Amino acid sequence: MFSLAALSLRRSLATVVSGNKTSKLVRERLKLEVDKMKSEFSGFTPGLVVLQVGDRDDSNLYISTKLKAAAEIGIVASHVRLPNTATQAEILHSILSVNEDCSVHGLIVQLPLDSVHTIDTELITNAVSPLKDVDGLSCINAGKLSRGDLGDCFIPCTPNGCMELIRQTGVSVAGKHAVVIGRSKIVGAPMHDLLLWNHATVTTCHSKTQDLPAQVSRADILVVGMGRAEMVRGEWVKEGAVVIDCGINHIADESKASGKRVVGDVHYASANERAAFITPVPGGVGPMTVAMLMELLYGKN
Ligand code: NDP
Repeated sequence: MFSLAALSLRRSLATVVSGNKTSKLVRERLKLEVDKMKSEFSGFTPGLVVLQVGDRDDSNLYISTKLKAAAEIGIVASHVRLPNTATQAEILHSILSVNEDCSVHGLIVQLPLDSVHTIDTELITNAVSPLKDVDGLSCINAGKLSRGDLGDCFIPCTPNGCMELIRQTGVSVAGKHAVVIGRSKIVGAPMHDLLLWNHATVTTCHSKTQDLPAQVSRADILVVGMGRAEMVRGEWVKEGAVVIDCGINHIADESKASGKRVVGDVHYASANERAAFITPVPGGVGPMTVAMLMELLYGKN
């Protein structure tokens, strides 16, 4: 039983920043824009190709989500699947033929590649034409982003979605101390660049960072993409921070029919008591990723 004094001291919970709600608004707006574009330029339809090597279950799920979202807003999306026996040369050949196909405006190579051969992933992502590289993984697009040429490059969709969610909070990024946990090419590194060029002072943490809780406690804006279930504890979080959780982790849960459930990299219940704004998992960053992909594809035309 709490005393009245204790109850009055307890601060209210964070505002939940919903990716489901925000991504729905983005998709509805895009559908109107694609319809308008089709009626203004008759015969023109934006095209997307998702190239998959092999047959991983998680990749199949991500790809079907992208294809469904594209179809809903009127983008023609196709799935090219190569067998896991495809050689590096065969994968490169497929990429080059999509690069040359002018009916295709965006090309995603679904990672990780599921191949029986040793494939140089860097070589593959760099073979995608920078003009169609909607994942923003080629050196050209990543280089432009790191130099702050934000208007002249494709920005990876997950960090782009995180920025959109931060914007939804109304908290200004300029001048804030932002902490990013993770430095991968698809999440952490581009997130660092985006925050930096939106004028935050940015600290990026990784697996060799000393005293992670101390780093986290300095963050006005915290973006986590580390792939470690619920590792960031509420006690680490600065009072009033914006907490954006990219993590998607499956943990055992006997109360579920599937025997598991999805959690983020942040311990939601405890962080919710200290943050001012927080994204849930699921329903936070995940749905934004696909919506931002569609926005990029449309924006390209
Ligand atoms: P990676 O495994 O490529 O990168 C993880 C990063 O976290 C690395 O930079 C790693 O450091 C760092 N890290 C790992 N452990 C620690 C630790 N104990 N302390 C500090 N840093 C640590 O993962 P991704 O970037 O691809 O994905 C990150 C998370 O985001 C995953 O949960 C993934 O499922 C999710 N994700 C979600 C998406 C979405 O749409 N919501 C899209 C893509 C990813 P180091 O570099 O030193 O190894």
